[in-house]
Amino acid sequence: MAIQLTNRSVVASNKVQSFSERMYLPAIVKGMMITFSHLFKKTPTLKYPEQKRQYAPVYRGQHVLKRDENGAERCTSCGMCAVACPAEAITMESGERKKGEEGLYREEKYATKYEINMLRCIFCGLCEEACPKEAIFLTDRIVDTEYERGDFIYGKDKLVEKIDKRIDVSIRETLEVAEFKKIPGTKHNTMYDGKAIDKKKH
Ligand code: SF4
Ligand code: SF4
Repeated sequence: MAIQLTNRSVVASNKVQSFSERMYLPAIVKGMMITFSHLFKKTPTLKYPEQKRQYAPVYRGQHVLKRDENGAERCTSCGMCAVACPAEAITMESGERKKGEEGLYREEKYATKYEINMLRCIFCGLCEEACPKEAIFLTDRIVDTEYERGDFIYGKDKLVEKIDKRIDVSIRETLEVAEFKKIPGTKHNTMYDGKAIDKKKH
């Protein structure tokens, strides 16, 4: 006995086609009517990049390596982000800050090379969570399309924010994180102030 899985099955017919059916005119008219009916419907697509969709506040896009309030790079090349990355998308090389470079790098150690492979990245945000220096954040920017695979490996030239074009990352900051930063002693993202710490000790 044949089992009927759905009620959408159609029994094939051997009926001889009429003249109009053989001309395919009714089928063509029917098809054209469907096409024309779509001309007056609201299109679900957007003319990107002129038009952009509004993203959710939690959207995670292209990373930024932040500078501190004085313009020095926050990243101290500790490697925590690379260890946390499940896609193994982050690589870096460390260097030691030289005398006179205090304005460029916030700490004694910094990343001479920092790369993210955007083809490997799954935009999970774990690098951001792992960073103890609030140096790396994901933003609402979209990673550009490229023709070459190698162009998807973003170096410091694309990742470090421009000194005169800062990127606001507070949009994705949750209330809990904002409150946490107000607790004295947890402000690891401010400049190291040895004198202030010495005062606290005495
Ligand atoms: S967002 Fe996730 S996958 Fe992408 S670099 Fe960061 S940790 Fe790796
Ligand atoms: S971005 Fe943050 S976690 Fe990654 S190496 Fe720099 S300081 Fe460390």
